[in-house]
Amino acid sequence: MMSIHEHTFDAIVVGAGGSGLMAAVYLAKQGSLRTAVLSKLYPTRSHTGTAQGGIGAALGNMGEEDHWEWHMFDTIKGSDYLGDQDAIEVMCRESPEVVYELEHMGLPFSRTEDGRIAQRRFGGHTSNFGEAPVRRACYAADRTGHMILQTLYQQSIKHDVEFFDEFQVVDLLIEDGSCRGAVALNIATGELHIFRSKALVLATGGYGQVWEITSNAVTLTGDGLFLVARRGVPLEDMEFYQFHPTGIRRMGILITEGVRGEGGILRNHAGERFMELYAPNLKDLASRDVVSRAIYKEIRAGRGINGERYVHLDATQLGAEVIENKLPEIADFCRTYLGIDPVTEPIPIQPTAHYAMGGIPTDVDGGVVGMQGEPVRGLYAIGECACVSVHGANRLGTNSLVDLVVFGRRAGIAMAEYCRGADLEPTGEDPAGRSREELEALLSTAGKDGENAAEIRREMKELMMDNVSVFRTDELLSEAKVKLEELRERADRIAIDDPSRAFNLDLTDAWETRGMVELAQITTECALNRTESRGAHSREDYPDRDDENWLKHTLAVVRDGASEIGYKPVSITRFEPKERVY
Ligand SMILES: Cc1cc2nc3c(=O)[nH]c(=O)nc-3n(C[C@H](O)[C@H](O)[C@H](O)COP(=O)(O)OP(=O)(O)OC[C@H]3O[C@@H](n4cnc5c(N)ncnc54)[C@H](O)[C@@H]3O)c2cc1C
Repeated sequence: MMSIHEHTFDAIVVGAGGSGLMAAVYLAKQGSLRTAVLSKLYPTRSHTGTAQGGIGAALGNMGEEDHWEWHMFDTIKGSDYLGDQDAIEVMCRESPEVVYELEHMGLPFSRTEDGRIAQRRFGGHTSNFGEAPVRRACYAADRTGHMILQTLYQQSIKHDVEFFDEFQVVDLLIEDGSCRGAVALNIATGELHIFRSKALVLATGGYGQVWEITSNAVTLTGDGLFLVARRGVPLEDMEFYQFHPTGIRRMGILITEGVRGEGGILRNHAGERFMELYAPNLKDLASRDVVSRAIYKEIRAGRGINGERYVHLDATQLGAEVIENKLPEIADFCRTYLGIDPVTEPIPIQPTAHYAMGGIPTDVDGGVVGMQGEPVRGLYAIGECACVSVHGANRLGTNSLVDLVVFGRRAGIAMAEYCRGADLEPTGEDPAGRSREELEALLSTAGKDGENAAEIRREMKELMMDNVSVFRTDELLSEAKVKLEELRERADRIAIDDPSRAFNLDLTDAWETRGMVELAQITTECALNRTESRGAHSREDYPDRDDENWLKHTLAVVRDGASEIGYKPVSITRFEPKERVY
């Protein structure tokens, strides 16, 4: 029998990436609230630490004019008009202030010669409402996320945030429309802990591990998403999943868009700069969905390198100095993982599953909202697991890091306010009962006959890559739906090998696998439902964007194992939908 421990805090943050730590700093610093961060990873191992290219803010530091309104326009256009314009306005307006706040916390940004924060180009970021590329991405070499994470971790420690490292949240205590805490597994001991709180924020990151080729760390299994879905909270716009054009061939490891921002060029087998054909204006710096589709089309037309499923990213014209100084990590990856030198040789790349635009629906203060727009009291969500929605159908590069810190800060402030007026609500009799049963049942399968979790994961990942990736059709999606139902049934019969309590990753892998299959199902059902092409969701059988019928968000709620789909309107405040021109 698992022993159970209990804790009480004002506020709980689940996840120690950029968004979670920003909220924690605000809760502890400004709200003076007893704040706990629960993280299944040691905090600085969170995926935010791998973000390379930059954080977007209209500072205009490079001798070029820039305005947050231009950033807003680009973000809306990039979102293929599905992003909520009220939320986008908040993000673009507040991003310069938050970037300077990070600087004042001590973040070591790269600098211009006169000492300002340096900025570079990134796809889709333009001046004067789409006229020409602008340098808007603030960066710390190609380790921007690493620096953000380290800076915020230091600040959290300074403000006495309590950390529970390697604690995996396995259930949320949501009763009568309010969240009263969470149940977590202490991975080191195998014991369950009940955390009671007035408010809780989910900052659990993305779910790229659902696909075979992905830039996402193995820990990005979407826990926050399937935990809320299991408690009857809807998920928004799950059909919109971004494939980043430049992952290292076969491995998916990300080669930042910063390489193209600095002047890197995509080439096919004949050495042609094929983006001139697909996006005559923005070329290699067109939005990620456009570039990923172009690469797929080149590959399909037999123009991949040696006819195979990849193309080249050519950075040789940048010269050794730019590569070594501005892109040192990338140079290192190429040398380590590919045994090639990007100074003299092109990099073999293919699109890689990268970023979830969809997620847990929230208002502009991170407050989670249900199917009819009703708030789930005390529950907040921020960062990649949330959908506020600033990225709509497709995210621009550098806009996730902005999203993390802007909405992390806003949620921290809003939660502090909420906690001041709220009492700790009681929880049911045996709050850990459900989790105990679930985990004990899995542990009791150890050594018995049953399905293998790793095998189920492998089949799911391949299926999602083949059927639910850059190009989609009714046939591919319907086939995926049937196969995922089978995988889900098999996931119920998983048997693990390891019966031990301490660091039983066999147990947590099995638990995550079940959740990921559920997320794969929701993604597929939403993709099947949306009969148009918009942003990252590209249906070959419905190639056009259809504003008349589909300028709306999808909300999917799971009932009896199937998704029930509803909709909510897009907030359009300043820019009416237009056709995208590249
Ligand atoms: C390789 C790469 C490069 C990128 N580069 C850029 C870039 O240059 N610019 C940009 O804007 N965006 C970039 N992105 C996207 C951006 O980095 C991510 O979207 C963002 O960092 C996500 O942050 P987060 O705070 O939501 O979560 P993460 O940083 O992913 O952290 C998730 C946290 O949740 C915790 N967690 C998860 N499940 C549980 C659970 N069940 N219980 C307890 N804790 C849990 C984890 O321990 C972790 O601390 C990049 C992404 C990748 C993968």
